[in-house]
Amino acid sequence: MTDESQKEKLRQHFARRVTAQARIVLDLWQKCSGETSIETAQLDELSGATDKLIRYAQRFDMARHATAGEQLLAALQAHQADGADSNVTLPTIRQAVEALSQATLRRSDQNQEESPRAFRKTPIYLALSSQEMASRLVRQMEFFGFRAAAFEDPEELIRECHQSKPETMLVDITFGGGPTSGLDTVERIQQQHETPIPIVFVSEDDGTIETRLRASRCGGEEFFYPAVDPGQLIEKIETYTHGNTVEPYRVLVLDDSRAQAKFMETVLKKAGMRAHIITDPMQIIDALDEFSPEIIILDMYMPGCTGMEIARVIRQQDRFHSVPIIYLSAEDDVGKQLQAMSLGGDDFLTKPIDPKHLIATLHNRGRRARSLLALMIRDSLTGLYNHTHTLNLLEQELARAKQKGHGLCFVMLDIDYFKKINDSFGHPIGDRVLRSLSMFLKQRLRKTDHIGRYGGEEFAIILPETSESDARSVMNEIRERFSSLKQPAGEQEFSVTFSAGVAAWQGENAQTICERADRALYKAKEAGRNCVISDSQHTG
Ligand code: GH3
Ligand code: MG
Ligand code: MG
Repeated sequence: MTDESQKEKLRQHFARRVTAQARIVLDLWQKCSGETSIETAQLDELSGATDKLIRYAQRFDMARHATAGEQLLAALQAHQADGADSNVTLPTIRQAVEALSQATLRRSDQNQEESPRAFRKTPIYLALSSQEMASRLVRQMEFFGFRAAAFEDPEELIRECHQSKPETMLVDITFGGGPTSGLDTVERIQQQHETPIPIVFVSEDDGTIETRLRASRCGGEEFFYPAVDPGQLIEKIETYTHGNTVEPYRVLVLDDSRAQAKFMETVLKKAGMRAHIITDPMQIIDALDEFSPEIIILDMYMPGCTGMEIARVIRQQDRFHSVPIIYLSAEDDVGKQLQAMSLGGDDFLTKPIDPKHLIATLHNRGRRARSLLALMIRDSLTGLYNHTHTLNLLEQELARAKQKGHGLCFVMLDIDYFKKINDSFGHPIGDRVLRSLSMFLKQRLRKTDHIGRYGGEEFAIILPETSESDARSVMNEIRERFSSLKQPAGEQEFSVTFSAGVAAWQGENAQTICERADRALYKAKEAGRNCVISDSQHTG
């Protein structure tokens, strides 16, 4: 190992200690926040942990953590001082906690302590009339890895939106004090932006058509009346933050004219799509396998065969049965176009193509194809992969691991005493717990991991290129943090735990590794639940 890489390893090691301590502080705060006063014992514990954090951060040169820690400690001491007004000191503590959590990673991509995915880059703003509700939501959202900020003053919100455009906003119709002052504020904000910020509106007591119309005209995507509980709101917000993670469409173009193909490539790339160009129809099979296109564009007339013939060959493969195929040709005889469509095509574009028209067509086809595919491979309650697709992915990842000589872990996870949750709070709340765990897993795991709903309250996770001990520690971290999440149920709150079984791949087939993970899960249940056990571990 070189000197440099040795140093880097050490740096990462120390960084982890600091962030681990920061998480302890944040967790302690999560436990005692929400109350209007904090017990002395809790305060002492929190101050002690913060003090330790500062010392670590200073020793290991992590300035952001050190500063945030110092701010927090000062705020805690002010709060503790005799005669302190908690209406003043509590918000200062909250601010300091916020600064600390911004400096601290939210999810563990191993070896990437300063991962950019730690927080979603763009913030989410909350403009509610009830500050208590707002800070409760901010805390909940942080647990899901969102960066959220609550506002009290309309002018401040407008200023902040001008400086950094939020991904989405949650706005109370009465934010700012007047009967529709929230709407006034949003109308002013939207004027500053070319594309409107998607807004989720909530309203306690105004559900009239006039108000709804105004809300919808100024970017309102949702209108909750009467206002709903935090769980539902967070789910909605999650759907408006997906925009950032949309993958570019993969488009395969077959055209024997090199010039035409190059032109298409340029247009597609400019529109942010991934293009794969071939000029020889005989390469089509290889291109399908390697590129796995979501949309295919075929030239109608080529030497050796026609686009229609190629389309038929493509359709003969199950995997590409529903991929949109678009023909491209100088043919403007409508009869011939119709005939081409009847042979497995979905659309027809005539040359010369207007790039705008082409891109619009691809977007429409692509979006539809993806939503159809989602119906086939995703579970409708959670949006995770369904049982069948999870197993397909496992097969694919096992083949890849074999080819590349990598390790892989498979995890089975089952919620503890889920039946009791349904019995005590009702089935809809049970469903909400399933969605909440799904979101939590999506936020905490890497993009390259696959998460499936295996059935009922059972989930399966594929962790490519992951060692058994890493898999266990990642799952344990998720388990601990998930269990400290407060699940809302009307006026009440409850918490949920899960058990997980980990199996590290030993060269066997998909079925065998599933069985091993399942056995490990069973052991975890036997061992008392709320734990992660791998099948190589011995439990007493
Ligand atoms: P254990 O700790 O042993 O896993 O206990 P458990 O109660 O979680 O396990 P059990 O298998 O006895 O019960 C699972 C329950 O999950 C029973 C079923 O009604 C409920 N369930 C399955 N699918 C859904 C669903 O989609 N929504 C809701 N709300 N409940 C579901
Ligand atoms: Mg269960
Ligand atoms: Mg079960």
